[in-house]
Amino acid sequence: MDDRDTILAELDAFHVEVDQEAGKLETIHAERLECKAGCADCCVDDLSVFDVEAELIRRRHKVLLTVMTPHAAGACAFLDDDRHCLIYENRPYVCRTQGLPLSWTETRDDGSVREFRDICPLNDEGEPIENLSRESCWTIGTYEGKLAELQRRWGSGDMKRVKLRNLPLL
Ligand code: SF4
Repeated sequence: MDDRDTILAELDAFHVEVDQEAGKLETIHAERLECKAGCADCCVDDLSVFDVEAELIRRRHKVLLTVMTPHAAGACAFLDDDRHCLIYENRPYVCRTQGLPLSWTETRDDGSVREFRDICPLNDEGEPIENLSRESCWTIGTYEGKLAELQRRWGSGDMKRVKLRNLPLL
């Protein structure tokens, strides 16, 4: 296994870890989550991913990328006519936490830190997300950092991103 194969194996492990952690939150929020196969409101157009995640899709879906007709503009290129993901097993990180209550922080100019929350409107019914514990939300930051580190190694510092819509053309 060369260095690049090692990084892709680590990316696989990263996806598994994300799925496990997201799965715990899906269990906690099972009553409010309307997410199901065929609901693709999160599968918006113009998503871009780090090149390392693009490479996983290139390697695992060679035939698909050759023959597929990308979904029309207005939704993700990998959405099929039944609103299912054509690359589900190897979908990028950003697609694996969709629908969960999200939490993130931003630092203001005065140095104070403010927390923000968001959730898909379809999953908004139930306990107001402002009242949820931080632990029961998907906290943005840690996993993005891990993924960025994989890309840093993959690209030798080049943080190249690739639009999903352009992948079939490459
Ligand atoms: S890659 Fe799959 S899950 Fe992600 S936005 Fe596209 S169709 Fe949806």
